[in-house]
Amino acid sequence: RNNAEKFEFQAEVSRLMDIIINSLYSNKDIFLRELISNASDALDKIRFLSLTDKEVLGEGDTSKLEIQIKLDKEKKMLSLRDRGIGMTKEDLIKNLGTIAKSGTSAFVERMQSTGDLNLIGQFGVGFYSVYLVADYVEVISKHNDDKQYVWESKADGAFAISEDTWNEPLGRGTEIRLHLRDEAQEYLEESKLKELVKKYSEFINFPIYIWASKEVDVEVPADEDESSDEESSDSTSSEEGEDEAEKSEDEDTEKKPKKKTVKETTYEWERLNDVKAIWLRSPKDVTNEEYVKFYHSLTKDFSDEKPMAWSHFTAEGDVEFKAVLFVPPKAPHNLYQSYYNSNKSNLKLYVRRVFISDEFDELLPKFLSFLMGLVDSDTLPLNVSREMLQAHSSLKTIKKKLVRKALDMIRRIADEDPDEFSGKDEKDVEKSGDEDEKKGQYTKFWNEYGKSIKLGIIEDATNRNRLAKLLRFESTKSDGKLTSLDQYISRMKSGQKDIFYITGISKEQLEKSPFLERLKKKNYEVIFFTDPVDEYLMQYLMDYEGKQFQNVSKDGLKIGKDSKSKELKDSFKELTKWWKGTLKTEDVDEVKISNRLDNTPCVVVTSKFGWSANMERLMQAQTL
Ligand code: ADP
Ligand code: MG
Repeated sequence: RNNAEKFEFQAEVSRLMDIIINSLYSNKDIFLRELISNASDALDKIRFLSLTDKEVLGEGDTSKLEIQIKLDKEKKMLSLRDRGIGMTKEDLIKNLGTIAKSGTSAFVERMQSTGDLNLIGQFGVGFYSVYLVADYVEVISKHNDDKQYVWESKADGAFAISEDTWNEPLGRGTEIRLHLRDEAQEYLEESKLKELVKKYSEFINFPIYIWASKEVDVEVPADEDESSDEESSDSTSSEEGEDEAEKSEDEDTEKKPKKKTVKETTYEWERLNDVKAIWLRSPKDVTNEEYVKFYHSLTKDFSDEKPMAWSHFTAEGDVEFKAVLFVPPKAPHNLYQSYYNSNKSNLKLYVRRVFISDEFDELLPKFLSFLMGLVDSDTLPLNVSREMLQAHSSLKTIKKKLVRKALDMIRRIADEDPDEFSGKDEKDVEKSGDEDEKKGQYTKFWNEYGKSIKLGIIEDATNRNRLAKLLRFESTKSDGKLTSLDQYISRMKSGQKDIFYITGISKEQLEKSPFLERLKKKNYEVIFFTDPVDEYLMQYLMDYEGKQFQNVSKDGLKIGKDSKSKELKDSFKELTKWWKGTLKTEDVDEVKISNRLDNTPCVVVTSKFGWSANMERLMQAQTL
């Protein structure tokens, strides 16, 4: 083409394409899922723009927000067209080849080590999966702000862009033409395509059509012309009775004008999906399997793992919305890395079924940013900018309710886990059928997201007690397992008022601590807090169920009643006085008779409101 401009793929993208082309990955179907997902994203974008400017949709067919699929057996070509936002020339150059996304090299690495391409969409490079089945791809695109262009590549390290002067004008949107490889001809079979589209479009909120063939009966005059005769007998040869009768009748009444029925293939758009969004359905009508599938399509996580839990509910009252929340099976690898710089939640926001954004800050507090899901509100206004929406007063209410529901959902993981302490009588605990699946789930949850719960206790004063219920830790009595505050309380000795804990680097180190001597001997339980964040946590968590927390390495420890303490104090008065006088006042506040030791003669204790030794250590590490 004489007006074509050539571009080289960015190096990482080129590598990615090479690997895809040469991949032995057997599940090649996934390319269709990625194309449909891109088409749907593009439609979401134009629909969002149209909220504030109706004009952008254009007129006639161009304004129809839909996806169309066509097969061309002669040209060995599969094409998928959307009437979405389209791409300008610059978009084509950037999005399809010259700018690598952050996930590109991560995905290349993953493919090289596992050979698995299934998660390609999660890494933001799903488009390139077309080269699993095609050796030549054309992307024709028309954006409102530019002319129509064609992007094309044979995946040989380069692509070309030309102004489109020969194809039919698209109006707006994108058409992707896949010139299928010889071994991928199955994707020209209508039945195969229908089956795949149905599978991959279950949660797509735009209609998808296929240009489908249909056999119809048509009546044609039956003259003596052999060709038409042959055609008719050919296409009706498999049918019996009626045709025979018709034929003999034909022969009998020779000179009358004759008519006969022949089969003809016609084409028409056939709709392949219905778009009733899952979150609009009543939760009791949605199966577990459907939720799991919805989770996979929502997050593009097409691994075999199921979400740990989900919650689907409708909020009514001043602010109405529907929501589905999921706890993903694994925390994303960078969950805490950008914790303090980013407010991004993983919830998609819809307003009256219209997708608004998946980067909306105000829906969940940071500590719940590991949750995935969707919110659809009828209360929020549709025709305002994202900024105005972000500041809308209903968002506070939505957020508050989402947090409540999220905490309930997490609590349920624990409640349904047979390995967890419920505090209830064995016979009162409702046992559900899939107990095996629920076994150990809460420990799994805690290992993935425990830190988030702790950050929540620090940040969310309103829900502090609810979050504290979700806390897990080891203790002097937990026998290497995790235990909870409720469990701790159920084991408290009579007369014990406080919840005892100690902070430090590791359980092994803490177990040897002289601070525990007396407590252990007297059979009191002490919690081990060994995560750096625990030290901060305990500055916020003052009490639980009316019990105070007492750091056993700090001043003020009271272990039950000690009748001898007054006596001891008096008889050692001279010694403590001398000792205090000998040490400098900058170094110690006080010298006291201790009730926490057994074998060790003395320990240095920090003051009740001062930093613990562990906190000093942490602060030092931070300033280094
Ligand atoms: P992702 O969808 O995760 O962004 P892809 O590799 O699937 O990654 O697509 C890359 C980019 O190409 C998209 O972000 C989008 O900007 C653009 N794109 C792909 N397909 C279309 C389309 N049908 N319409 C408009 N833009 C598209
Ligand atoms: Mg995509």
